[in-house]
Amino acid sequence: MSKVLVVVDHVDGAVSKPTLEVLTLARTFGEPVAVAFGAQAAQTAGAVGEYGATALFTVTDPVVDEALVAPRAEAVAQLVEQTGAELVLLPSTLDTKEIAGRVAIKINSGLITDAVEVSGAIGEVATTQSVFAGNWTVRAKVTHGVGVVTVKANSVPAEPAPAQPAVEEANVSFSEGAGRARITASEPKQASGRPELTEAPIVVAGGRGTDGNFGEVEALADALGAAVGASRAAVDSGWYPHSYQVGQTGKTVSPQLYIAAGISGAIQHRAGMQTSKAIVVVNTDEEAPIFGLADLGIVGDLHTVLPAVTEQVKQLKG
Ligand SMILES: Cc1cc2nc3c(=O)[nH]c(=O)nc-3n(C[C@H](O)[C@H](O)[C@H](O)COP(=O)(O)OP(=O)(O)OC[C@H]3O[C@@H](n4cnc5c(N)ncnc54)[C@H](O)[C@@H]3O)c2cc1C
Repeated sequence: MSKVLVVVDHVDGAVSKPTLEVLTLARTFGEPVAVAFGAQAAQTAGAVGEYGATALFTVTDPVVDEALVAPRAEAVAQLVEQTGAELVLLPSTLDTKEIAGRVAIKINSGLITDAVEVSGAIGEVATTQSVFAGNWTVRAKVTHGVGVVTVKANSVPAEPAPAQPAVEEANVSFSEGAGRARITASEPKQASGRPELTEAPIVVAGGRGTDGNFGEVEALADALGAAVGASRAAVDSGWYPHSYQVGQTGKTVSPQLYIAAGISGAIQHRAGMQTSKAIVVVNTDEEAPIFGLADLGIVGDLHTVLPAVTEQVKQLKG
């Protein structure tokens, strides 16, 4: 069976949900083999095995933790050759996209980033991307070499298929220059207790219509186990931190469900959320452009609608 090399995104051994989605996707093309980096790489074995990886290559040389992505890219390129992988899949993050670009050059292969759909078969992998601020949907194929594709979060649901991965330290070497760009300091983001915005299956976002009160948005998010997002108008007003902004100059999200409350639907906001699978809109103005994207539109005051929905969700959950 063809091998598909999956690059694992993890923090201290905790594997990200998009990685599990990519492993699920990899199984539709062949046998997933995973590579994880850093001192805690081996701790990912349980999760990657649960989602079907038959092998886990760890790369624990300190240089992968101390340097930027160059050593990781060198390792992935060598593993493609050693494993005979015929496709490389990565979850889309800033780091993995840079790794993907470097790997594609090293192995002389076509590269596609931020795919929201990946189909076809080995040798004829086809993807869908949403580009130019979401104004165009592009279907593309890798026509040269081993395909290297990064996949956006929530593009496929993660489904377990337990396997027992053989864990092995990868036999890779690094060039002299690989470790030259060093990380001098890093600090973990303060945990909000909610899922990460770009990975969350549900996002509840608030805009200027909240009038600065995000309490109702947060309450609904917590009832649904969702992440909170915000429009730029809300962020610029100082009502919510910039790291929660959705849109062209903020984060791009593609959840199963996006609830937009008090957001008009400017093109720059839509650019960051219009690939969401289902969109629910709450807005007092029935002419608001965001209703054009809505699967379910509620014309109403969010200060009334959100608490009512939150109450219903809580009751349903018992
Ligand atoms: C270069 C550039 C980049 C940009 N990048 C981004 C970006 O990344 N993300 C982004 O979001 N914007 C971005 N913008 C800004 C964008 O153009 C809009 O100004 C912004 O999205 C508007 O935010 P909003 O929908 O919250 O506010 P508004 O457009 O003011 O809309 C508020 C909405 O709330 C509704 N409302 C009011 N009260 C209530 C209520 N009680 N209940 C329910 N509904 C109510 C109103 O009917 C209205 O539709 C960018 C702009 C530029 C020029």
